Amino acid sequence: MKKISLKLKLTLLYTFFMALLTCAALAILFSLSSREMLSSTQTRLENRVQESVEFIALRNGEIRIDSDFYSVVRDVYLSLYDSDMYFMYGRIPHGFTQQPELADGEIRTIRDGNREWYVYDMSYRLSEDRTVYVRGITSITDAEESFTVTVRFALVLLPLMVLATAVIGYRFTRRTLAPVRQITDTVRQIRADADLSRRIGFEEVKRNGRPMPDDGGSDEETGERRKKGDEIYILGRTFDEMLEELEEVFRREQQFTSDASHELRTPVSVIMAQCDAMLAEGNSLTEEQRDQIGLIQRKARGMADMISQLLFLSRADQGRQPLNKERINISELTEMIAEEQQMLADADGRGIHIETQICPEIWADVDETFYIRMLVNLISNALRYSRENGLVEVSLVQDGDAFTGSVRDYGQGIVADAQPHIWERFYRAEASRTDGSHAGLGLSMVKWIAEAHGGSVSVESEEGQGSTFSFCIPAGENNF
Ligand code: ADP
Repeated sequence: MKKISLKLKLTLLYTFFMALLTCAALAILFSLSSREMLSSTQTRLENRVQESVEFIALRNGEIRIDSDFYSVVRDVYLSLYDSDMYFMYGRIPHGFTQQPELADGEIRTIRDGNREWYVYDMSYRLSEDRTVYVRGITSITDAEESFTVTVRFALVLLPLMVLATAVIGYRFTRRTLAPVRQITDTVRQIRADADLSRRIGFEEVKRNGRPMPDDGGSDEETGERRKKGDEIYILGRTFDEMLEELEEVFRREQQFTSDASHELRTPVSVIMAQCDAMLAEGNSLTEEQRDQIGLIQRKARGMADMISQLLFLSRADQGRQPLNKERINISELTEMIAEEQQMLADADGRGIHIETQICPEIWADVDETFYIRMLVNLISNALRYSRENGLVEVSLVQDGDAFTGSVRDYGQGIVADAQPHIWERFYRAEASRTDGSHAGLGLSMVKWIAEAHGGSVSVESEEGQGSTFSFCIPAGENNF
């Protein structure tokens, strides 16, 4: 299942709590309000009935009713009864069909059909011997209905408010987290291109080519200004400072490798030259001394190779390894390299045979020296890790706008766990099998050369069965 993004999680979280909080608040409010509504309906009824006595007067033994008695004020209907429950004046609401007994000073709830009513009776002494009753009737159902409309309105409004909060919240979170994405992208780019000179650069954004004023930085992608105190700005700055330090450490390490290799080159050349001279002198040396000098010479040669590989890689790291591409016949060059390697294999005396399957007339824009270096590395590895009298196959084919080559051997192969690491510097799958002159730099160079040409390298290998190293390199614009 796809992972939920942080911004969605945050939005869901506060939307959920916001909905929960609003629901709880509304529930409390509604329960209080409905009670309040019923009690205020009762108070209204009582007041209206009590005030209504102003509209009743006794003149010359006759009851006079003011016309206000008939009007329905605050939903209360008034009616006047004598003590025998005889209806005299007033209005009864439509739908109220019952004739409940008089109950002085008491509010009663009366159900009539599917409606409910509050009924309040109050006795009023017109004279010594004459008492009448004022009855007030008001509908609970109507009051509840108007309250229900308010509730419904709130229920429609609530989800809309929650939705609006979610949308606004999501946009806000996205805006806030956009710089985090910028940080992630920068780190990814650094990893992909191994380019430590990249920066997140919140503070480096310029407007119309001018730097931002010093009171803040901004987010280049969203165009949003980042305040200097803001946590994400601080995170970005900290990352940039860390990258600055890392770049400096790498630069110093590269410089050290380069300087050390340069310094070692001369003494190693001197050692080799001296060994040559001693061996050339010849006769005065015993057989044992000749062997010892031969060993020194071989080790010095191995060291010289390693130094040249180190120099190559450190120059590549520093971007000082330009490609001198020219259009060459790759088929011929590959055939030539294979022949040379066959001669070396023959001299080695292990009986290994190199077989070629090379498509003729493949032309490509490559740096000849680098291409030779790449193929020599692959074939010499295949020879080294082959069994006696083994076979090494070198093939080259045209593959659309690119050419693909492969070097296959039937030797010891590489264990699956080691395969991803063989391109790393100084990595050797089985150190014990090397004689010390192979430092594990060859394949790093092969990879760099293929990639510098815009191509790639890969390996397929099975332990005990052999390995196939393949490279695919674009042939250049005017190919074929
Ligand atoms: P080295 O100079 O030690 O050969 P490389 O970078 O050329 O260094 O190779 C790295 C490691 O990959 C080697 O130590 C070896 O273990 C393994 N390797 C390379 N080529 C082959 C091959 N053809 N067969 C088996 N193992 C190989």
